[in-house]
Formats: sequence, C-alpha cells, structure tokens
Amino acid sequence: MGESGADVSDGAPVYDAEVATLAAEALRHLEWLAAAGVRELPGAPLLEQVRPAPQSRPRQGEDEGLEAPRTTERRAHDTLPHDARSADAGAALQAIRGDLGDCTRCKLSAGRQRLVFGVGNPQAELVFVGEGPGEEEDRQGEPFVGRAGQLLTRMIEAMGYERAEVYIANVVKCRPPGNRNPEPEEIEACEPFLRAQLAAIRPRVIVALGKFAAQTLLRSSTPISRLRGRWHEYEGVKLMPTFHPAYLLRSPDEKKKAWEDLQLVMKELGRPLPRR
Ligand code: URA
Repeated sequence: MGESGADVSDGAPVYDAEVATLAAEALRHLEWLAAAGVRELPGAPLLEQVRPAPQSRPRQGEDEGLEAPRTTERRAHDTLPHDARSADAGAALQAIRGDLGDCTRCKLSAGRQRLVFGVGNPQAELVFVGEGPGEEEDRQGEPFVGRAGQLLTRMIEAMGYERAEVYIANVVKCRPPGNRNPEPEEIEACEPFLRAQLAAIRPRVIVALGKFAAQTLLRSSTPISRLRGRWHEYEGVKLMPTFHPAYLLRSPDEKKKAWEDLQLVMKELGRPLPRR
C-alpha cells in the first residue's frame, strides 16, 4: 500500500476498493449537504472542488435549497470520522440558520421577540420536535425552557440523556400570539427549515411531541392518541409520536403512556431500561 492509499502493481496505481468506496460516499455526502442548503464548509467551497459547477447548483425551484433529498438510507455519515461529522452537521445547521435570517416569511414574525431556531447537539442520535415557542421560549430564544420545557428536560433525563446530548426544535420558530395553534400557512412557511435541520442532523430517532409535530412530519391527520406508541418513519428515520409535555402537565394521568413511548425509544437506542 502506498502512502496515498494506492497499491502499486506493474508500475500503475490500483486504488484500494475501500478508498474508492469512501471517496464515493464522501461525494454523496457533500451532494447531500448541498441539497440540504449548505453552501460552504469552513475553508472550502462545498462542491466546486469535487464536481463541475453546474451540477453543484440546486435544481430549479430549490433556490433556498432547504428541502433535503428524500432518502431512506443512512449514507456516508455512518463512515465519516467523528470530527468530520461534527463539522458537517454543525456547519449545516449554521447555514440553515443563516438562510432563515431575520425571517418574515409568515405573519408570526410580527409578534416575536426572538426567533427560536433549535438547540442541542448537532450529532444527536435523538431529536425532539415540538410545536412552537411559548412565552418563555420567545423571551429566551431557546425551545422548551418554560414549564413544559422543564418537564421535557426531566423526560430526557429519565431516558438517561442530558439535555445537551439531544437536539430540540419546533415546527414553527416564532411564537404564535397567545400560544394559539400555528396556522397551516405558518407551518408551511417554516417546515422546510425543520426538515433541513433534521436532514443535517440525521438522528437515529425523532420523537414528535404532540399533534402538530407528529401530523406535520408524518403528513397525517390521524389524532395523536392513535399515532403515539408505535413506530413511524420520517425520511428513513424512525419516528415515535408521543404526547406533548404541555398536555401532560394538564393531564398527568397520561404520563404513564408517554413514558411507555419513551421506553420504546430507549430500547431502540440501546439505552438501559429501568427495572420493573
Ligand atoms: N411548546 C413547544 O411546542 N415548544 C416549545 O419550545 C415550548 C413549548
């Protein structure tokens, strides 16, 4: 094996199949990031170096580049070294935040104090998706920091994670006035950014908290009471709907069911389950 990873036989370099496979996977990964809206990684234009410019442009109608390609498989992510993954997902999230900018795509922008993008670990294996910021989240610019958020943090910790280990985001990023439900056009305006965040992180499991998150991600109108407690699939990622923590505060008797849902998630992620 030569220093560059090539075998030299009969004077001609024969590249190791593994190197070629990794290179192909890395290229697919860069393409995938580009489709998710990432234009540059630190220090290098994203695709220009590895493929001709015309193919590096988003397709027509994808100017914002935020709709990540639909995929049912985990890609080069699985084989990239950890540091590369960190840079990729972190840079992708930053790029998505940059695309959102000082967003005025829907009328929620008029009433917000802070846009609430999302918080947590860009390499999280587990992502929680809620509905939209409440008063405290609007004030602090961070999802799930009010009363419902404190319950969510306890739920996360009961699963054996620290809050900073997972990623938390919402369907809409600005607070609906008076905490009313988000309207369809508000969800429509904001959803591409959530989808891009999920594409950047590519967690192993998504927990959809409540009706709006579950129905939006699954494109379903089935009530949360029927969606919860069983596995669904979102873009090749396992998705578990469960009750929203705010609902659990109002209906504490339902906590048992939510905990059952979270234990299914723990089992899937190989986390130790509490002894009965
Ligand atoms: N409820 C949500 O759905 N999201 C938050 O961030 C806070 C409360």
